[in-house]
Amino acid sequence: MSDEPGPFRFERVAIVGIGLIGSSMALALRDNGFTGPIAIADRNGEALRIAAELELGTSYHVSAAKAVMGADLVILAVPVGAMRATGRSIAPCLAEGAIVTDTGSVKEAVLEALNETLPETARIVAAHPIAGSEHSGPRAGFATLFHRRWSIITPADDTDEEAIEIVAHMWRTFGSEIELMTPQRHDRVLAITSHLPHLIAYNIVRTAYDMETVAESEVIKFSAGGFRDFTRIAASDPTMWRDVFLNNKEAVLETLGRFSEDLAILQRAIRWGEGDALFDVFERTRAIRMSIIDAGQDTAAPDFGRPRDPSNAPPEDEDERPINAVRR
Ligand code: NAP
Repeated sequence: MSDEPGPFRFERVAIVGIGLIGSSMALALRDNGFTGPIAIADRNGEALRIAAELELGTSYHVSAAKAVMGADLVILAVPVGAMRATGRSIAPCLAEGAIVTDTGSVKEAVLEALNETLPETARIVAAHPIAGSEHSGPRAGFATLFHRRWSIITPADDTDEEAIEIVAHMWRTFGSEIELMTPQRHDRVLAITSHLPHLIAYNIVRTAYDMETVAESEVIKFSAGGFRDFTRIAASDPTMWRDVFLNNKEAVLETLGRFSEDLAILQRAIRWGEGDALFDVFERTRAIRMSIIDAGQDTAAPDFGRPRDPSNAPPEDEDERPINAVRR
């Protein structure tokens, strides 16, 4: 292996947590020409075994402390609730001046955990790629996950400028756009754009399954009416999302309060037959959807571009029903 690390401004990388995000970053590093060593750590032996099988790194460790030795860039891609323990365990083994960045979905709590556990010589650059999926683990990763997606970097007042630029350059090389904001602002913005939608999805799926008037088979059969789009989000990793809500408590509760007030207004409009009020809200929200498509953050294709699955459609004619079809 050559000593030339490719287009990146670091030479030895350690990735702690080789799930969806960690594995996608390992693949994106290689795909974009990083040729230096990548040490991978995960507490989960099976994830490490898969990472080795997929050749995501050059060495594999159960101990995060061992993995970070000699690395000039350390990427923490563990759940938000594991950041403090990870910081504590790697602290004694970090190279002087190493950049420690993370991918956590909450920023203020993660920065606090890292500031309190890492040595002063560590250059901490908190970051969050706004890219992901409901799949977890090293097999879920792919190199283009971050293409045309935002990566938010949340520097503190004293964050080393050069370290910010090195991390920003890495994300740009992965195809991301960079936005800088304070950790507090990040947590408030993500509370409404990501955390609340997940909470609503988890709750609507739970409610549908708990409703005694609707049979489970009907929920599945008629899910294309909108429900299945919530089920995709509600299939997201339980550990990750438990940690997000516990660590962005204030912003989520504030946003939830506002959401509940607006929901009560809709409830009232339905009760009193105020069609114009409902129409006005729906017209405004449709315009917001259009602006998301215009910004290239989603497809304008019908049904989110899903190919039409003929097995989901009801038969057009009773006579065309397959012989072995059973009426449910
Ligand atoms: P993931 O697929 O669930 O993988 C996380 C990995 O970290 C698992 O293998 C897990 O092992 C391991 N782990 C947990 N605690 C650890 C510890 N203390 N030390 C070492 N390894 C540990 O998670 P992910 O989706 O990649 O998310 C990683 C981070 O990126 C999270 O902070 C998340 O908030 C953030 N993020 C996620 C997304 C997304 O859509 N998924 C998007 C942007 C950012 P176990 O299986 O044993 O728990």
